[in-house]
Amino acid sequence: MVTDFKCLHCDALVPTREIEEGWCDSCGKKVPDSVRWAAKKSAPVQTRDDYDEPKPGSGRRLLVSGLAFVSFLALLAATVLKLA
Ligand SMILES: [Zn+2]
Repeated sequence: MVTDFKCLHCDALVPTREIEEGWCDSCGKKVPDSVRWAAKKSAPVQTRDDYDEPKPGSGRRLLVSGLAFVSFLALLAATVLKLA
């Protein structure tokens, strides 16, 4: 957990909530991205948010599975027609 991060600009103790927001409330300056990522990684709430988001590759994987299924059907139809 990154709970003891001190602001680089005003040396105030920045709570995790403010780190996640990306801003130091004491001086209004930006919290470094590396500190934000470290805070996000340690926060279990963020993983639940990621789970709710649609995975970027899922649509393409579905398309590939669909194409594989269609070509399987075509192969099956060809085989059946050959036998008939
Ligand atoms: Zn500050």
